[in-house]
Amino acid sequence: MNIALVAHDKKKDNLIRFVLAYKETFQKHSLFATGTTGKRINEETGLEIHRFKSGPLGGDQEIGSFIANNKMDVVIFFRDPLTAQPHEPDVSALIRLCDVYSVPLATNMGTAEVLVKGLERGDIQWREIAKENEENSNEG
Ligand code: PGA
Repeated sequence: MNIALVAHDKKKDNLIRFVLAYKETFQKHSLFATGTTGKRINEETGLEIHRFKSGPLGGDQEIGSFIANNKMDVVIFFRDPLTAQPHEPDVSALIRLCDVYSVPLATNMGTAEVLVKGLERGDIQWREIAKENEENSNEG
């Protein structure tokens, strides 16, 4: 599965700890992240991760484009609800697209934990079926 990982600055340490805790699960999947988040995850966990641009420079929108094209299966986005972000519209747009395309999204550690446990149990396997169906309908 393709998993997007994003954290605002004050939440980056939390996300790193989270990824380390579930490293065994994450390493079975393809990981994507905004620029700075991805750099830190790679350096501090050793996991390979595709890096988009930094969030404020368009990285959130790049992830949004993957979602719109049915190429992102899970989004874990530790947003900071207490700090104004210059790219707030991009943050809202990313969350909105997850809802448009029913992509499982966690915006805090509590939900992320449930999501990753669901991923481990195969609860999100329906994403693969949804993707296959779309590919087949595009062919026809
Ligand atoms: P960053 O972007 O990983 O480049 O810091 C995250 C964000 O602010 O959306």
